[in-house]
Amino acid sequence: MATELLPGLYQLKVPIPNSPLKWVLPYLIRGDGGYTLVDCGWNTPEAFSALDDELHDVGITFNDLSTLLVTHVHPDHYGLAGRIKEVCGARVIIHQRERDFIRSRYRQPEQLLERMSSWLREHGVPADELEDLQSAAMPVRGFVVPTEPDHVLWGGETIDIGLYKFEVYWTPGHSPGHICFFDRTQRVILTGDHVLPTITPNVGLHPQQMGNPLGDYLASLQRLDPLEVDDVFPAHEHVFKDLQGRLREIAVHHDDRMGEMLRIIGDGRSTGYQVASQTAWATGTFQSFSSWMRRAALSETLAHLEYAVQEGLLRQVREDDLVKYERVAAKE
Ligand SMILES: [Zn+2]
Ligand SMILES: [Zn+2]
Repeated sequence: MATELLPGLYQLKVPIPNSPLKWVLPYLIRGDGGYTLVDCGWNTPEAFSALDDELHDVGITFNDLSTLLVTHVHPDHYGLAGRIKEVCGARVIIHQRERDFIRSRYRQPEQLLERMSSWLREHGVPADELEDLQSAAMPVRGFVVPTEPDHVLWGGETIDIGLYKFEVYWTPGHSPGHICFFDRTQRVILTGDHVLPTITPNVGLHPQQMGNPLGDYLASLQRLDPLEVDDVFPAHEHVFKDLQGRLREIAVHHDDRMGEMLRIIGDGRSTGYQVASQTAWATGTFQSFSSWMRRAALSETLAHLEYAVQEGLLRQVREDDLVKYERVAAKE
């Protein structure tokens, strides 16, 4: 059921098959020259017809959509973009940092698969798990109909849609080109996957997301801290109110996790895989995870370890073709 949260601003609910998240929550906003949809859902028949039904609830059809804004190109947010564009010609807008992933993930992933394999191996993934982890994300490609953006954003723009004036906030971390939309007058923010009410988004280091993604993520949380917001409209779970409180909780969560990982390494040297397999994940044990979840846990672990390297707490050492981490303090 579409819910009108504010005048002309609706929350939709589109199912995600076989996912503990259950739904993605696109937002539909009435504009002067047509409606804007923020995120859209996976490309499955169920998701497409759910979206179709929800538009009908509001009294419109796909033909009334003029624009599709995408917070980031993960399949649950971007999967239907190509189909929507084909059906009604809506223009697709994403952050420029997400544009490259459309080709490398969804159109020609062969090169990425090769890089992924050597990267997993050097971070300690055992030979018998390598193939499963390497191709873990491939089935997801079926849920995406890729399309090129008609327009890209950099952050800092203002987008006028009917009663609303959304400022674009570039919030890298969960994905390098993730964006949020903030309306200063209405005091609302659409946070995509960046800030969710009870779960924390995966922030991972992987061949397409090098550098210091956790550092980027924590800085992106801080960027939202000064915003005066009454309501937060996330892309999963439910609407919530206390943005600043939630930002603090998420920062504490990563701090705790970092402490746990440093304790696991102790005075020894560990690969990312070793640390990931001993971390107490909220969603179950590493050993019980599917290959897709194991890979996400490994890249989340490596994001923390890389952040600790940047903070001067850990150093990276190479040993027998493996990348290992050790405490800096342990040597001094
Ligand atoms: Zn995502
Ligand atoms: Zn998502």
